[in-house]
Formats: sequence, structure tokens, C-alpha cells
Amino acid sequence: MIPGPFSYHRPTSLADAVKLLASLGEESRPIAGGHSLIPMMKLRLATPQHLVDLQAIGELKGIRRDGDRMVIGATTTQHELLASAEIGKALPILHEAALLIADPQVRYKGTVGGNVANGDPGNDLPALMMALGARYRLQGAQGAREIAATEFYQGAYFTALEPGEILTAVSIPVPPAGHGYAYEKLKRKVGDYATAAAAVVLTRSGGKVASCAIGLTNLSETPLLAEDAAKAVIGTALDDAALNKAATAAKAIMAPAADARGTVEYRKHVGGIMVMRALQRAAARAR
Ligand SMILES: Cc1cc2nc3c(=O)[nH]c(=O)nc-3n(C[C@H](O)[C@H](O)[C@H](O)COP(=O)(O)OP(=O)(O)OC[C@H]3O[C@@H](n4cnc5c(N)ncnc54)[C@H](O)[C@@H]3O)c2cc1C
Repeated sequence: MIPGPFSYHRPTSLADAVKLLASLGEESRPIAGGHSLIPMMKLRLATPQHLVDLQAIGELKGIRRDGDRMVIGATTTQHELLASAEIGKALPILHEAALLIADPQVRYKGTVGGNVANGDPGNDLPALMMALGARYRLQGAQGAREIAATEFYQGAYFTALEPGEILTAVSIPVPPAGHGYAYEKLKRKVGDYATAAAAVVLTRSGGKVASCAIGLTNLSETPLLAEDAAKAVIGTALDDAALNKAATAAKAIMAPAADARGTVEYRKHVGGIMVMRALQRAAARAR
């Protein structure tokens, strides 16, 4: 319950943070809200020798509109996401999902960047970012680069981040006005990680689904983009047959762990139900 020894660094610029991480080497880790990393350190599942705190770096904060995209700085907290009227208007699914993350205490400290960079399959934001077509901006000693959220997750706690790289912002294309959205999360109790969750972003035209993206949380080692499930509903009026086809296609790619949240069969079963509920609610909201 007590972390191993570490030294603490608090740079005030991104350039200094990148330099520090490069010079301190692989035993160093960025820390943002600390609400995933510190519990791991207390359990001695992570034993970094140096923590580089990102919270005093102004460049990593804030939410802004950039043309047809919303850019969310990495150290924006989950609470700030909820407090942003601009996010509520442009990306309401982020509001809906952020409200389902843990509890207010965690959301006051936990950051968007930490949530998506962590690589924990239980984190809620990564599947949403995949469904929204988000891109992650990364900065390391070798320079800056961007990567699609769909290409970022490689295994549990294993991402495309190179050692010493910092995720600086998330850039999300603003979905068209009138789009439908829903995040359905089954959890054992308030504040828990998902037993199974599904994010849906869709548009409708002439009573039929015109476009659709479906993301899945905690139903595999990584968040999943359920592409075949989305294809199964495009061009349909979302009748029972289409809903069932989508759930079956989504279940085919699920590979959840058997754990305290349930057996593999149970989690896949409720995963399919989350997909159907999210599709129905998103369609009902679409104009
Ligand atoms: C009781 C409890 C319940 C929770 N429930 C949920 C839940 O239901 N859903 C959910 O999604 N989350 C949940 N969380 C996790 C919470 O949302 C965390 O805040 C979040 O996962 C990590 O964000 P952080 O800012 O705290 O990151 P940290 O804990 O500081 O860091 C997490 C990891 O990401 C790395 N990192 C952080 N920021 C960056 C960056 N900018 N660039 C590169 N690497 C970075 C760190 O090195 C570390 O490896 C819960 C946490 C607690 C304590």
C-alpha cells in the first residue's frame, strides 16, 4: 500500500518535460491526475523511479475549437470536460460518458490525456475516441507526430507511445449537427469500471441509418471499434433484425476477461445488449 521510492519533477514547459523524460530514461513516467498511476504504484504494479508531473504545463491545458475539430489538451480534467458548454454542444457523448467515470472526486483530478494514454481496457474514453474518429497528438525527443485512436491501443497497458513520449492533446472531428449518440455502460455499482459498455455515434437520413460507428469498452484487452456491427445497421431503419445482427457481429470480436465482473459468456452477452441499447438511444436522438 506504500509506493516504492521515487523522485518528483514538476516542469513548467512541454519542452522541459520531454527533455526530462529523455534524460531520466525508461525508469521515468509522466504523471497527470495520478488516479490510475498512484494506485498501481501503491500495489507495486508500477515502480517508476522518477515521476514527471505534467500539471504545471500550460500548453497541455484547455479545450478549443480548431476549424471542424475540437482539440482537448491532455491535462484537461474529466470535470473540466463536463463543465465545458462547447463540449456539451459539439460532442455531447463525451459529457454522457464522463458522467459515468468513477465519482466526482476522481473526475476532479483524472485527466483526459491520462485516461486515453493509460491503456487500461476498463477506461471509458478510449472506445469513445475510436468511435468519434479522434487523433492523438504526441510529442517526444524526436519531434511531434499524430496517430489515430484506432491505431493507438496494442494490448492491455501497451500503446503506441514510445518511451519518453507525451500525449499532448486529443483532436476530434465535430460530428454533424443532429447526429445521434449514446454511451451505455453496465457496471456493478456507482463508481465502478464497466462490466461492458458501448459507444454509438450515428446519423440518420430518410428514416434510415446513414452512418454509424460503434466503440466497445472492457470487452477485450484493448478498446474495440466494432466495424462489422456498424455496417450491419447502415441503410436499415434499425429494426429488430438489424439490431440483432449488429449485436452478433459485435459479440464476434469481443474477448473479455473472466473476472469479478463476470464470466466471458456473461460479459459478451451483456456487451451485445449494451450495443443494442446504445444504437436505439442514439437513433432516437438523431434528427
Ligand atoms: C476509484 C476509481 C475509479 C475509477 N473509475 C473509472 C471508470 O469508471 N472509468 C474510467 O475511465 N476511469 C476510471 N478511473 C480512472 C480515472 O479516470 C483516471 O483518472 C484515468 O484513468 C487516468 O487519468 P490520470 O490523469 O489520473 O492519469 P495518471 O494516473 O496520472 O496516469 C495514468 C497513466 O497514463 C500515463 N500518462 C498520463 N498522462 C499522460 C500523457 N499526457 N502522456 C503520456 N502518458 C500519460 C502515466 O504515465 C500513467 O502510465 C477510476 C479511478 C479510480 C481511482
